[in-house]
Amino acid sequence: MNAISADTRSDMMRSVQSKNTEPEMLVRRYLHKLGYRYLLHDKRLPGQPDLVFPSKKKVIFVHGCFWHQHSGCRHGHAPKSRLEYWLPKLRKNILRDEAARLELNRLGWSSLVIWEFELEDFSKAGNRARDFLSSSPKS
Ligand SMILES: [Zn+2]
Repeated sequence: MNAISADTRSDMMRSVQSKNTEPEMLVRRYLHKLGYRYLLHDKRLPGQPDLVFPSKKKVIFVHGCFWHQHSGCRHGHAPKSRLEYWLPKLRKNILRDEAARLELNRLGWSSLVIWEFELEDFSKAGNRARDFLSSSPKS
């Protein structure tokens, strides 16, 4: 029996909102349909990647363009006001992302970043994910 009330459940949903974002769900549904199986937000790995493919030693991050400051992207530009608040926060995100990818690499994992607004052209982003997963692991 599922004893969780609707209220509690929606509270739980809210609390994980930053993880199971709509862009992430798009990628997950797409890859799942292709037959890929993965772990989610594995805390044991640097950066807690969104999708983890243990047998392939590959991970995929689905990044929001703003929060992760997608460089050269119209959605990734820094905010124009309250810079003293935003800049250190966003810079920290960038450094954390870089550190996580370097550390994953050092541990023998390949990583791919899919940007939120790449998903506007889903076939392209989807192909990129598929190519990444089907390519042979690095030697
Ligand atoms: Zn972007």
